[in-house]
Amino acid sequence: MNFTELLDLHKISYKENVSTSKISSIRAGGVAKIIIYPDNFEKMIYAVKACQAYFDKFKIIGGCTNTFFRDFGYCGGIICTRRLFDVKIDGLYVTASAGAPLSSILRFARDNEIELASELFGIPGTLGGAVRNNAGAFGKDISNVFTDGIFLNTDDCSLTSISSENLRFAYRESLLQSENLILLSGRLKGKFLPRDEINEGFKKSVVKRRESQPSEASLGSFFKRTPGVIPAKLIDEAGLRGVSIGGAAVSQKHAGFIVNNGSATSSDIDNLASKIENVIFEKNGIRLAREAEYVI
Ligand SMILES: Cc1cc2nc3c(=O)[nH]c(=O)nc-3n(C[C@H](O)[C@H](O)[C@H](O)COP(=O)(O)OP(=O)(O)OC[C@H]3O[C@@H](n4cnc5c(N)ncnc54)[C@H](O)[C@@H]3O)c2cc1C
Repeated sequence: MNFTELLDLHKISYKENVSTSKISSIRAGGVAKIIIYPDNFEKMIYAVKACQAYFDKFKIIGGCTNTFFRDFGYCGGIICTRRLFDVKIDGLYVTASAGAPLSSILRFARDNEIELASELFGIPGTLGGAVRNNAGAFGKDISNVFTDGIFLNTDDCSLTSISSENLRFAYRESLLQSENLILLSGRLKGKFLPRDEINEGFKKSVVKRRESQPSEASLGSFFKRTPGVIPAKLIDEAGLRGVSIGGAAVSQKHAGFIVNNGSATSSDIDNLASKIENVIFEKNGIRLAREAEYVI
C-alpha cells in the first residue's frame, strides 16, 4: 500500500505538491511533497508513525510563522497541527490542543473573564509553535502561563505528560528544541479579570505591534536576543536597515525583521541572513543566533 492509500484508509486528510510559499508567513519556499492534517490525536500519532516508516525525515508545523522551506521544497512528510484546535476552560485553567492559534486561546479565555497574558496577544501561530520557541512579547512569554502538557515522544511514539518546570524554558528556548517531543495539548493558568480590562490589554499589545512591526510578509524577529545582544540595534548600527538581496530586505521599520518585498526566494532570505551574520561578526565579534527556522 502506498503512503496516500494508507492515509485514505485511516481517513487522514492531506494535500500533495503544496507550495510552501503559500503556508510560510514569509511567502517563500518550494513545493512540499505532502502536508498531512490530522484532526485528532489518534490520527496525529498515526501520521507520525506513517511518516517515520515512509520518509527519511518529517516536520511538524503549526502556523508556519517562524518556519520557511528551501526553494527546492521538502521531500519528507509535513504534519500540520492546524486541525487540532479545541480549547476548553476549567476554572482558571485553559486546556488547548497544539494547533489552536495563540490569539484564539487568549480570546477564548477573555470571553470567560480569564486573563492569561495579554502581552502575547497578536503573536501569530499556534500553541505548539509558541511552546517550542517559548514565544513572548513585551516582557511576558508562554512559560509564564503554561503549566503542563501532553507530548508525543517520537523516539518511541509514547505519550508523556511534562510540567512547565521540566520544559527548560529560557528566552525563546524550550526542551522541545533538543528532544523529539511534539506537543499535543497544553494547559495554561490565568487569573480572573473583567472582560473589558483584558480587552484593554489586548488593544495595547495590538497598538505596540502596529507601531513597531512591518506589515510585509516576515517571520517576526529573525534573530534571537541573547544576554546583552539586541540584534535589531546591532543591525541598525551596522547600517544594514533597508539592505536587500533579491526580494528579501531588512525592514525599514524594524531592523530585526527580514521582509519579503514580494518576490523573495528562500535563498534570498537565507543569503541576506548570512550577510547580516557576517557583517555583525566582523564589526562586533558577535555571532547572531537565528530565531527563524530554515527547514532542510
Ligand atoms: C509578524 C510576526 C510577528 C511575530 N511576533 C512574535 C513575537 O512577538 N514573539 C515571538 O516569540 N514570536 C513572534 N513571531 C514568531 C512566531 O509567530 C512564533 O515563534 C510562533 O510561536 C510560531 O508558532 P507557529 O505555530 O507558527 O510555529 P511554526 O512556525 O509552525 O513552527 C515553529 C517551530 O515549532 C515547531 N512546532 C510547531 N508545532 C509544534 C508542536 N505541536 N509540537 C512541537 N513542535 C512544534 C515546528 O516544528 C518548528 O520547529 C512573529 C512572527 C511574525 C510573522
